[in-house]
Amino acid sequence: MGTAAVISLAEFRQRRARAEARQELHKRFDRWLDAVEEQVPKEPTLEQVTQVVFEMRQELTGMITEVLVGQAHAEALEQQTMPCPHCGRMLHARGSPNRTVETMVGAVSLSRPYFYCVRCQEGFYPLDDALRLSERRKQWDMQKAAASLAAEVPYETASGLFNELTGLSFSDHIAHEVVGELTKGLTVLSVSPTAEEIAQRVAQVAEGRTWRPILVLAIDGADVPTRPETAKGRRPGRKRKRAKRARWKGQWREAKGFRFYLVEGERIVHLLSWHQVQSDKELAEALRQVKEAGLIPEEKVRLCVIADGAKWIWKFVKALFPLAVQVLDYYHCSEHLHKVASVQFGDNPEKQTEWMEATVARLFCGEVQGVIGDLQRMKARDAQAAEEIRKLIGYLTNNQGRVDYGFARKGGYPIGSGGIESAHKFIGHVRLKRSGAWWYVERANQMLALRCAKYNGTFDRVFEDYEQRAIVRNT
Ligand SMILES: [Zn+2]
Repeated sequence: MGTAAVISLAEFRQRRARAEARQELHKRFDRWLDAVEEQVPKEPTLEQVTQVVFEMRQELTGMITEVLVGQAHAEALEQQTMPCPHCGRMLHARGSPNRTVETMVGAVSLSRPYFYCVRCQEGFYPLDDALRLSERRKQWDMQKAAASLAAEVPYETASGLFNELTGLSFSDHIAHEVVGELTKGLTVLSVSPTAEEIAQRVAQVAEGRTWRPILVLAIDGADVPTRPETAKGRRPGRKRKRAKRARWKGQWREAKGFRFYLVEGERIVHLLSWHQVQSDKELAEALRQVKEAGLIPEEKVRLCVIADGAKWIWKFVKALFPLAVQVLDYYHCSEHLHKVASVQFGDNPEKQTEWMEATVARLFCGEVQGVIGDLQRMKARDAQAAEEIRKLIGYLTNNQGRVDYGFARKGGYPIGSGGIESAHKFIGHVRLKRSGAWWYVERANQMLALRCAKYNGTFDRVFEDYEQRAIVRNT
């Protein structure tokens, strides 16, 4: 005998509830269709029809969602008692207040039982917990879309685009708040891909090759337009009437960052970026975290570090990645050469070019010692030239092992920090450097973290973490 014929009482109830829900939905759909038909003009164009459907679609999809929720959580909707999660006392439902939430598919109205524990002085909506609702009226899907948009364009533009593309409203003010909460406490590790994800990308590039792929760590800074904290409130001190101009002065500050990427011929395969307006110490700490989390598969790659001449960076890099090939960024280096060329041969452009070309060529041949020797013998034109020559000698001496550009080239290592320059551009500049935009450092760092997450491919995970944090906080 088959078991199909036997249905439990619970199953029977469930089926009946489903049938009732369907009927209800069909009725509501008919009403919706009536309303749509009324709006469509006679002999409409396709655009006229789609416009009406677009404008009214959220009523339909919202209502479908409502019915499906009611069906899936029938028990929670009819729940009459619950034990207090804190003291265990049995609580009785105190009516079913209505709550309307907004989602990407429209407004959803929920009439759900409310419980209150007098002893613990706390109220509960079990359905809200079961549905993992956001405390905000705008639910997670809308928050995520708004944050994603705001990561790309100014808040006001994001709000306008949101409305234009979805027919739903999301104010720039709320988007600001969401981004603030979403990025709260983010560290380099929260926006980094996992070790497995990085290993996978390395394996893809390594496939079919004899040599281990080159993995570059580039470290550099870029300017961010900031405004002081004092711009937030009134300036302390005597009250004085002032003309209506900003009472604070914008300041360019350095966003220090690093980027790990694979070099595959001309192509760069991005792995991980972290940029913040931060101190050298904080930058070093972030790098240390990446190292200690085992994100970089050092034995599977040829690691190369490229940076400017800052001594602390090289000291730190040597301790962290002792086997990495070190390259002094060629552009930084040639800027230093230029300084000497211009003060020493300032009156003779031909001589200037000639000296530059010869010196660069010698560096490419690995003749840094010879270049230093010649600089030491060079007769300075004046005191300023003498000073620049002295500085360049020190600079090249400190970086002797890092300016063998010929060797780096032959090995396939990059000699310029173009990889991090472009990261500054696509992570920082395109969003932060906009005319008239001066950022509070905290906000700038939030935005930078969010954009790092996007480009590191971890935005979804960062958002999930935020959701999880908010839900745990509320329960
Ligand atoms: Zn209680």
